[in-house]
Order: sequence, then C-alpha cells, then structure tokens
Amino acid sequence: MRRSLVLLTVVIAIAVLHLHAQTAPRLIVVLVVDQLRADYLQTFERHWRGGFRSLLDEGLVFENARYPYLGTVTCAGHSTIGTGTLPHTHGMTNNAWWDRASRRVVGCTADPDSPDITYGRPVRLGNSGRAILVPTLADELRAQKPGSRVVAISLKARSAIGLAGHGGDAVVWFDDAAGSFATSKAYAQEPVPAVKAFITDHPFERDNGRAWELSAPANTYLMRDAGVGERPPAPWSGLFPHPIAGRNGDDAQFFNLWQATPLADAYLEKMAESLIDSFALGQRDTTDFLGIGFSTLDEVGHSFGPESREIEDILRQLDVTLQRLIAHLDAKVGRSGYVLALSADHGVAPIAVAPRGGRIANEDVRERINETLSDQFGALAQGSYVESASFTDVFLAPDVLDRLVRTPATMAALERALKAIPGIERVLRADQLSDVSSDPVVRSASLSYRAGRSGDLILVPRKYWYFSGRNGGGTTHGTLHDYDQHVPVIFFGGGVGHRRDRSAATPADIAPTLAHLTGIRLSKAEGRSLVK
Ligand SMILES: [Zn+2]
Repeated sequence: MRRSLVLLTVVIAIAVLHLHAQTAPRLIVVLVVDQLRADYLQTFERHWRGGFRSLLDEGLVFENARYPYLGTVTCAGHSTIGTGTLPHTHGMTNNAWWDRASRRVVGCTADPDSPDITYGRPVRLGNSGRAILVPTLADELRAQKPGSRVVAISLKARSAIGLAGHGGDAVVWFDDAAGSFATSKAYAQEPVPAVKAFITDHPFERDNGRAWELSAPANTYLMRDAGVGERPPAPWSGLFPHPIAGRNGDDAQFFNLWQATPLADAYLEKMAESLIDSFALGQRDTTDFLGIGFSTLDEVGHSFGPESREIEDILRQLDVTLQRLIAHLDAKVGRSGYVLALSADHGVAPIAVAPRGGRIANEDVRERINETLSDQFGALAQGSYVESASFTDVFLAPDVLDRLVRTPATMAALERALKAIPGIERVLRADQLSDVSSDPVVRSASLSYRAGRSGDLILVPRKYWYFSGRNGGGTTHGTLHDYDQHVPVIFFGGGVGHRRDRSAATPADIAPTLAHLTGIRLSKAEGRSLVK
C-alpha cells in the first residue's frame, strides 16, 4: 500500500514537471516605458495601430495598477518591477541619496568597485546592482534555471540594472557624459561580443544631423505644438521639427538631443532584435529574460510636459517600434513561447502653470530649516543643520533629528515654518513612519523608506506641486499623487489571454506573476501573482 502510494506520488510529480516544462514560457520579456502614465493609453487610443493596439486588444490589461509608495522615480520603479518588492525592501529608494559616510550624494547604481566597460568612447564611472538588497526575478531565473540567459538594455543604467539585477549576459546602458553605450565589470570582463558587433554595425552617430519630425500630419494630433511652460533642451524651440545635430559631429549636444527623440527608442529596439538572435533568447530548452527600458518619453516629458505634441509623437512612434519587437518575437519565439509584461516606472505631473500648482525649490526648504533651527537651537559656528535637501527627503546634520524628537515645541515650530512654504502639505519624521499605518500618507512614505538611504524628514507636496531646483522648469514626478502612481500593467503572449481587469494591482505584482508562469520561486516578493 505504502509502496504504491510512493509510486503514485512519483508518477504525479513527473507528470507535473513535464507539464510545466511544456507550458513554462521560454522567454520572459519585461518592457518598461519610463514615465508612461496610465491615462496616456486611453487619451491617445485613436492612434494605436501597432504594439499598444496589440497589447490592449489581446493582452491581460490591469487598469487600476498603482505604485503604493511616495518616491515614484526611475530607480525605485524599475527595481520594484525587477524584484517584486517595494523600496523599503529592495532599498532603491531614490535615483540618488545622501551618503552619510562619504558625505556626498551617490547614485543608486554607483559602484566604484565595478568599473564601466565602454562600447565606444572612454568611460569613467562604475555601476552595478549591489545596492539592490534582494534578488531580481532575473537573478532567481539564473539561479533556479541553469543556462538561462539574461539581457537587459536601456539608455539609463538604473533602468537596465533594475531589471537585470546582480548579473546577466548583456546588461547595456548609455553613458551620456561619454556618449557611448556601456556595461560594467559587474556583468562582463570585457565588451560582450554580440553587443559590440551590433554597435559597430549600427553606429547611433548615424542619426547625427537628422531631425525629429512629426510622424503624421499635424492636424491628426490632439495636443498643440505650442504648449505653455515647456522647457526645450537647447537649442530646440517648443515647435517641431527638432534637429539633432551636434556642433562637430559627435559632441555632447548630439548625445543629449538624440536621447530625447524617437530615434533612440527605435535604436534600442533594433539592438533588442539583434540580441534576441545572437543569444537565441527563447529558442532553447530553458527560460531566458529580456528587459528593455524605453527612456525617451521621460526625457521628453520632463521638458515638454504630459500635454505636449512631443510626448504624443514619442508615443505614436513607440507604438510602431513595439509592433516591430512583437513581430520579431512572434517570428523567432512564437506568441505562446514568450510572456511579455509592459509597465512604467512612474507617471508625471502636469506642468505647473498658475493658478494650478507650482514648484517647491529645494534651496528654499534648506534655508527655511536652517533659519528656524538657528532661531531655536542657536546659530551654528560652522556648517548647516541640513546636510542635503532633495525632493521629498531632508537629511539633517548628525543628532539634529534626536534633538527634534526630544523638543516637541521646536519640532512643531519647524513643521509650521515648512508648511508655510507654498506647496508643502505634510512634514513627516522618519521615526514616526509605519508601513501598517492607517494614515495612507504615512504608509506610502514608509514603503519608500530605508534607513541610511532616506531622509530624516520626509516632505509631502500638495497635488500639482513638485520639488525642483531654484532654476527648475518643465515638470517632474516623485510624489504619491495619482498622476505619479497610476501606471499600466499589461501581460501579453504565453497563453495569458485577453481581459480588461479593474481590480487593484501594483507593478510589484509583475515579477511574482511572471515567476508563477515560469515556475520560479521569489522568496522575498511583496507583490502577488495576478494570474491563477
Ligand atoms: Zn523622470
């Protein structure tokens, strides 16, 4: 009896394994469109004939997906999608934070021990995923399915690295200071031959001297070309066309402008097709991972805002670019052989134009705190009460937070002084954050908080207000308002089927869903699988 039970168990286990081997996708594709706000897919729906059309009409579409945390920025979003956890767990709280030990601002992927490797001009930085405190889905795939290949590409290091994680076969980004694609010693000992071959055969510098022209007749656009509050990069005006020429063929101006045009998205997609072929992604008897971070929408959105003809055209051209990618995947892997997820790392605020909203200058915040604490505690002989004030996070000098906790009257005076700055709605103290708070603002700040990387004070701006430098223009993101938190989450291919789903979801659910479909365990995941 017992022996036949054991035999039966073994038979069932083999059958389940076999079933899984047959049904697990051979390729996971994660596409992150930087700054793709959820409403864009509806606002511009009449334009979709390519990739967005396929995803909306044939995919599993979650219409109520929101980031649950305050710090809605690129590094946090990509790492949330990459790991299935939230910033308080994965630690990528911001694009950069004040490092108390070295007393300077460090980028989220900065790593001097992992020098960059160039695919062109000399590079000087170092980058890796060492600050990501949990494994990504791609890391777990490499660990649990030996032979899996991981490719992640973007213009931004923090996007490619947030998707790949701590290793990978080709992890590629664009170093704008150098004007070259790059990887680092964290991912390779030398330039990856397949990437090198693509870049050599397809130099992006060929786009130098071209212009970003509207891709359709002007009367087919919903948005005006002459928007209000636009801050085009020099030497562009607010009107099309936008020439992308450097002054002498390869200078910083060209690198900068190129990244803010649909040509850069198209280039990245071409690179993806080439790497799908050279790595045979999804074409072997295992599961591979391809992550692509499309960054141009964010570049353009910051300068021209969400109500611009520029972002409308970026998206119309991305629709075509995504269709090329889907066609290539269909041809090389087959629709049922891959599962694709598309989302965004954050949304964006409308450009602040009076009387709606405004900008809060980081310098004003710093000076207001210094003035108030000098009145209360006495002027400092040297130095400042504030080490760093950037976006929502204020890093106070050592011991200042403790003194504020011990002297409630001073804390109250500081809070009043900060809330007197137009646009500041709440002042939260790090020691009072709780991720189970019944106060949704406290909870969302807590989900973004990681000791050592987050500020002592967290400032929450009112709706339509955002932080910037004193000379800032254009617009940005990074708050808990719906325009920053609400993003698309769409799955496509791999037999997930078509449905529009109104239930609440978060981008932290993407990795657990893909893990579930692939039979991978994510031990630290905070999101949940959105499919049964
Ligand atoms: Zn941005």
